[in-house]
Amino acid sequence: DAHLSEVDPEVAAAVADELTRQQSTLEMIASENFAPVGVLEAQGSVLTNKYAEGYPGRRYYGGCEHVDVVEQLAIDRAKALFGAEHANVQPHSGAQANAAAMFAVLKPGDTILGLDLAHGGHLTHGMKINFSGKLYNVVAYHVDKETGIVDLAEIERLAVEHRPKLIIAGWSAYPRQLDFAEFRRIADKVDAKLMVDMAHFAGLVAAGLHPSPVPHADIVTTTTHKTLGGPRGGLILCRQELAKKINSAVFPGQQGGPLEHVIAAKAVALKIAASEEFKERQQRTLEGSRILASRLSQSDCADAGVRVLTGGTDVHLVLVDLVQSTLDGQQAEDRLHEVGITVNRNAVPFDPRPPMITSGLRIGTPALATRGFQADDFAEVADVIAEALKPDFDDALRSKLRDRVEALAAKHPLYAGLSR
Ligand code: PLP
Repeated sequence: DAHLSEVDPEVAAAVADELTRQQSTLEMIASENFAPVGVLEAQGSVLTNKYAEGYPGRRYYGGCEHVDVVEQLAIDRAKALFGAEHANVQPHSGAQANAAAMFAVLKPGDTILGLDLAHGGHLTHGMKINFSGKLYNVVAYHVDKETGIVDLAEIERLAVEHRPKLIIAGWSAYPRQLDFAEFRRIADKVDAKLMVDMAHFAGLVAAGLHPSPVPHADIVTTTTHKTLGGPRGGLILCRQELAKKINSAVFPGQQGGPLEHVIAAKAVALKIAASEEFKERQQRTLEGSRILASRLSQSDCADAGVRVLTGGTDVHLVLVDLVQSTLDGQQAEDRLHEVGITVNRNAVPFDPRPPMITSGLRIGTPALATRGFQADDFAEVADVIAEALKPDFDDALRSKLRDRVEALAAKHPLYAGLSR
């Protein structure tokens, strides 16, 4: 029964270093969050030992009586939280949830219509070398060049022209809400199924701060680790009539044994997501991204060509457009890294630079909201970012900004009970 530090000091040291990194820097990658200790405990439990192919009450292995309890709790909580008729909590990740959802309703060669990766879509929405691009005939829709907003007229035109079997609404990098009712109308017009991938904004939906796709979509997929704040994993919601197809597409269609330790952690996260505390945290997440968008737009860095795409945000992230700036995405990401703020560079629509460099940043507020950031803290971090992106950045400024980041990190301790 040796502990990690005894059995494998090298891995233990890297884990401890990662804890220190999370505690001492400001995490602003829009798809990341900090799972509560209860979630970490469930995920680190003995449930990892159990095989449980099948579903609660109908397993292909003995000894599933306790994992059945856990998985049923996760299913019931997911259904209640999102008002869904059916939930499958087994997908190992968001990509697997999407693969299973498509596997359930499509045949290879069928046409899908999704948001272009370069305009904010996800790999699984039809990128060329992803399974979605290899198995299905992909037609991509875009955002409008002037407004940066998803172009519903183009979607309707493409849908009528190509008659997709599935329309995918959802994004990885987009700062506004989608009109799910309009997507439904277009899907009905061409007899397509509608899948909404709410991976990014599921936490906002759970808190009632973003329109729910559930009443409009045939299938809703999500990750459980972004705004939802749970363990790394996937989840599928659907109408009862698709329940059997979805279940068999996940297992045995796509996966073998479910990760019951992760499913336990999903159950805990879904319980937390129904709480008032969670709602309040999502409110701060939104408030934080609005503060960030408005302060970046009004700062000196705006004069140096740093723009906020679409002029603001309705969600947990801000997309920064650097096309007019002397900094590219890589340089801007590196600058922020130097002062202790972690973000990711991101292509902007119609990006003139290559995908490994990009002309944009995606900056999110969920992790800092989980850490306890209030409006004044978000204003301070926004000002640090604006300063760091100014053309006159130098060693002296770097060290001043690093001090301000350290002060914010110290003000909001993270995982205080977890030791090195
Ligand atoms: N769907 C969307 C919209 C995403 O943004 C992501 C992850 O970034 C995924 C699916 C895939 O999730 P995972 O990384 O868990 O496979």
